[in-house]
Amino acid sequence: MLLRSAPRRLHLLRPHHLRLLSTAALASAAPAPVPPQAPTEWAEAPLAAVRPATADASLFHVSLDLSAHGDLLASHAAAGQFLPFRLPAAPYPIFLAIASPPPPPGSSAAAFDFLVKRLPGTPSARLCDLRPGDLVHVGASVVGRGFEVARIADARDVLVFATGSGISPIRSLIESGFVENNKTGISLFYGVRNLQRMAYQERFNDWEAKGVKIVPVLSRPDSQWTGERGYVQEITKVLVADGLSKDRILTNF
Ligand SMILES: Cc1cc2nc3c(=O)[nH]c(=O)nc-3n(C[C@H](O)[C@H](O)[C@H](O)COP(=O)(O)OP(=O)(O)OC[C@H]3O[C@@H](n4cnc5c(N)ncnc54)[C@H](O)[C@@H]3O)c2cc1C
Repeated sequence: MLLRSAPRRLHLLRPHHLRLLSTAALASAAPAPVPPQAPTEWAEAPLAAVRPATADASLFHVSLDLSAHGDLLASHAAAGQFLPFRLPAAPYPIFLAIASPPPPPGSSAAAFDFLVKRLPGTPSARLCDLRPGDLVHVGASVVGRGFEVARIADARDVLVFATGSGISPIRSLIESGFVENNKTGISLFYGVRNLQRMAYQERFNDWEAKGVKIVPVLSRPDSQWTGERGYVQEITKVLVADGLSKDRILTNF
């Protein structure tokens, strides 16, 4: 992945037989969505890993050991679904998108991965400050319908937009076989402030090998940056203004 190469200019994009797929993070650019309702049933599980996911430690990788929760593992059926977390001493639950792909039937996968934005003074920071082995309460089953990819089964080109931790459900989508199974052209526009805040760079070669064209878009790059600049949230507005029907935009919640 050449992070410093200059990809095609964003303003040259034109939708043609296009289906657009957006992330939860994109939806957060619109008026704040109503948080999903907290579950009535909870499960207790240990953390398998907690570590910084970016050079500036603004995002954390969190893995949850679900080896004792087969039903919860099996309830993850679609990329884009999420899980409620009730953290120790936190006054309210938070919801986190599942970053790992839905486990295929018969798989030995026993964990869910998450990408968590550490916001000081909120439950997310309490989670990032925990250690492997610490117990957390999570919803007894996953929440949400995920990306309804069947709606874009005939798409020839798919554009994917993600900002910040919104890349998490997109990782789940890419690693669930979406690209290989649908044989579509897929371009991922991944917006962050700078490269120190960009998670999953170590996965880019693998994603590109699957057929994903990755276009990093930085809002506050250093002076060395020669790639795209700006806010990917603005691109969907351009596409809608350019004739793309809103019902061809998928979000995961
Ligand atoms: C579907 C979904 C998926 C998400 N996925 C991710 C992800 O993958 N990674 C990630 O980092 N973040 C994700 N988030 C965001 C995450 O759930 C939190 O919203 C985020 O960590 C900010 O938390 P917050 O404490 O500011 O509270 P918010 O949930 O943003 O609420 C805003 C404020 O409202 C108040 N408040 C909210 N709920 C209550 C309550 N029950 N009782 C009292 N006060 C309350 C608090 O003052 C809080 O600060 C996701 C959110 C949603 C809805």
